[in-house]
Amino acid sequence: MELGKYSFGVGDRFSHEGEAQLKAIMKAAEKGVDISPVWNKSNREHNIVHSEPEGTRIEADTAVSVLGWNKPYFVDADHINLSNVDRFIDHADFFTLDVAMYIGNKSSSEEVAAFKRSCAGFGNEVTIPGISDPIKITSELLEEAAEKYLAAVKEAGKIYRHIEKAKGTGNFITEISMDEVEAPQTPVDMFFILKMISEEGIPAQTIAPKFTGRFNKGVDYKGDVKQFGKEFEQDVLVIDYSVKYFGLPSDLKLSVHSGSDKFRIYPVMADIIKRYDKGLHVKTAGTTWLEEVIGLAISGVEGLVVAKDIYVKALERKQELCEPYADVIEIDETKLPPAGEIEDWTGEKFANTLRHITDHPDYNPNFRQLIHVGYKVAAEMGSNFTTLLEKYSDVIGACVEENIYERHLKRLFDL
Ligand SMILES: [Zn+2]
Repeated sequence: MELGKYSFGVGDRFSHEGEAQLKAIMKAAEKGVDISPVWNKSNREHNIVHSEPEGTRIEADTAVSVLGWNKPYFVDADHINLSNVDRFIDHADFFTLDVAMYIGNKSSSEEVAAFKRSCAGFGNEVTIPGISDPIKITSELLEEAAEKYLAAVKEAGKIYRHIEKAKGTGNFITEISMDEVEAPQTPVDMFFILKMISEEGIPAQTIAPKFTGRFNKGVDYKGDVKQFGKEFEQDVLVIDYSVKYFGLPSDLKLSVHSGSDKFRIYPVMADIIKRYDKGLHVKTAGTTWLEEVIGLAISGVEGLVVAKDIYVKALERKQELCEPYADVIEIDETKLPPAGEIEDWTGEKFANTLRHITDHPDYNPNFRQLIHVGYKVAAEMGSNFTTLLEKYSDVIGACVEENIYERHLKRLFDL
């Protein structure tokens, strides 16, 4: 199964925006850039929203059939592991094996020895074309790599084989993710991780490392963009090498789990994939949900009341809502407008505060992050929320489409 050179993960918490999301992808296709849409939704999101993976499949299939999309598309069981993959098996054809929590676990001395033996062919150093410093191979370095990543990759092997047994070889896309950790993986780490993946026999087509810098939910990248660019470029070169020498699938590419909207690094990635003629997968998470709230706010009084209600409730339950996202959120509480203050806001004011246009005077990244993690509040509103999504689907859909096309795809794929 081929994912395609460019693919874009359109997370959709409430599964109502499939058509609007696909319209943005189709707009790119009209301009000559083929991007495979991937509807990604994690187990955590399903649990919080109380939805089932079947819903994501129905959303994707419906959007595709209504709009007559005749190119590849996928449904991603995002961030799954052995304990929860089964609910996704029948409905997904893209599996993101999340093995971050196994990083640093112990492997047996036999496994470590086998890994070291598999690296014997490297000799004393490996030079990756395009990277000036060679990797100096020492027994210590190999042990260190095994200590950090071997157990995680072995676990990915178990999950992969579990899915393979159920779905059959070649019938799904495999991604391996290690992004939800504190410490970034360097290009040298990536080199050994890919070697282990190849030894484990996993035909990974995308890999999502933890990059340098902070990927806070819903807001822009925070960190050294130059350093990010350097690592991203070296990762691309390491992947090239591993395809050539480790026998990994020729379409293996980087997957960037953006947590939504990392616009500062988009031009850097765009430049590198263009320069090397490489593919890319970018996952957005809650960017569409935020557009739903924006759309509601500008849809009229009824929608604005609900949008404000979501914020006020999220403010009251800030701690609880932020907890599952503690590592990927940074809210300055003093900059959150109190409930009393937003009471008089117009829909425009609310939307401008939330919409990710960083140079708009009303834009407030703290407000945006809180609403990003506040989808649980909307989920609890049940049909009071989803009925409005349907009632105002024109306004909301236009926001979703514009966001994905204008702010994401244009910046990423040189449109
Ligand atoms: Zn991720």
